[in-house]
Amino acid sequence: MTPLAQITLRCGPAVRTPRRSLALAGWLVCSLAVLGAPAAWAEGYPTRPISLVVPFAAGGPTDVVARTLSVPLAKALGQPVVVENKTGAGGTVAATIVSRAAPDGYTLLIHHNGMATAPALYRKLAYNPLTDFEYISQVVDVPMTLVARKDLPAKNLPELLVYLKAQGDKINLAHAGLGAVSHLCGMVFRQAVGVDLTTVPYQGTGPAMAALLGGQVDLLCDQTTQTVPQIKAGAVRFYGVTTAQRIKALPDAPTLAEQGLKGFEVMVWHGIYAPKGTPREATERFNAALRVALKDPTVMARMADLGAEIVPDAKLTPEGLRSWLKQETERWGPVIKSAGVYAD
Ligand code: ASP
Repeated sequence: MTPLAQITLRCGPAVRTPRRSLALAGWLVCSLAVLGAPAAWAEGYPTRPISLVVPFAAGGPTDVVARTLSVPLAKALGQPVVVENKTGAGGTVAATIVSRAAPDGYTLLIHHNGMATAPALYRKLAYNPLTDFEYISQVVDVPMTLVARKDLPAKNLPELLVYLKAQGDKINLAHAGLGAVSHLCGMVFRQAVGVDLTTVPYQGTGPAMAALLGGQVDLLCDQTTQTVPQIKAGAVRFYGVTTAQRIKALPDAPTLAEQGLKGFEVMVWHGIYAPKGTPREATERFNAALRVALKDPTVMARMADLGAEIVPDAKLTPEGLRSWLKQETERWGPVIKSAGVYAD
């Protein structure tokens, strides 16, 4: 098979002939050759390691999802899938980097609700989530949990609400930057309880959890993909899950809603994106590998243990991701704008 480079080179001087018929024939051959290129290109992709960019620090929930998938993805693709943590600004640094990366299928982004909230939070956002990317697929939906440092006096949610009213801004809440879901969950919680907690940003909820375990911060609203092991180990105070129904991973855990915090539902969805212009052959090839990886028994067991729900087939499509992203952007925009919260 002629490598792509030679095919495109053959479309250079070789077809410039003095006679019209030969030129036309040459052009036709060249066009067919170039048209044939995507097939050759697709059969080759990937021919080198793929970078899967995670917008938050290692050890956090997004990182856990990416690294859990990277092993079966590499097996399905025949090339390493290298997880790269590029942190900052609630995930917008990483999204900016990927939006500007070469559209060749070798730099991809895994991100969550932050793709939908950034346009409302960042007035000088360097990318448009709905036009500057190719869409590969949704991945998993992950509930959140409200946890505290183990020695916080409040043993349950009713006691916590009384304690927060008394302590006010002496109590701090950690998050992973404006636009991170831990920040959004914290914002919804603060509004629900009517207490203006002090917030402490980190480069991800991996470091935020470390600070909580070390007693440096009081509260954290984070995804079960990180908190389930800590809750099961009794290493943190646990007040409830942010879902409408209880979850299988923590069957005895109450929801915040059933304890009186009505309407407190936050679910973290995830998508995989490529820079605009990435050939369809690459995005489709990665999508197919992702579908295989999500059916890997090890992945399914780990996601179930961590409370992460693998999305149904209808969401495992580029259209399933883009339409959901559009819907979420339209949902969160007015909520954030009405709160008057801006990150820049
Ligand atoms: N998902 C982020 C992380 O993995 C945390 C967040 O968005 O709150 O650190």
